[in-house]
Amino acid sequence: MSNCRHVRRQQSDDFRCKRCKMMVGPVVYGGHNRNHCPFCLWSRHVDGRVPGDRASTCGSMMMPIGVFVRPKGEHTIVHRCLGCEFERHNRIAADDFFDRVLALPPVAARGLVPAASTRREPAA
Ligand SMILES: [Zn+2]
Ligand SMILES: [Zn+2]
Repeated sequence: MSNCRHVRRQQSDDFRCKRCKMMVGPVVYGGHNRNHCPFCLWSRHVDGRVPGDRASTCGSMMMPIGVFVRPKGEHTIVHRCLGCEFERHNRIAADDFFDRVLALPPVAARGLVPAASTRREPAA
């Protein structure tokens, strides 16, 4: 008799990435919510102000636009929503494709560039 303690929780953590079509399961270890695809790093605008609250009605894709490293050494991805330009910082998960994280353009941890001027033009 094997009792099945191994049952997957039927929460909405599993999703199919709309960007790369990979099936994304819950984070294998580490306790936080999966909030972006580990393969292409794209996210979706489903949360409101609080990560995990699923309060947003936007639902647009969120593009990884940059990465910064917190003082503790945690890599954090900056996502921008393609629908409403909302920006969010998301810690990477343990199983993210780290090469892709590193391939993102580095950004400053604070004072993110406003959507209107995505890059600074050098003085001519
Ligand atoms: Zn993906
Ligand atoms: Zn949005």
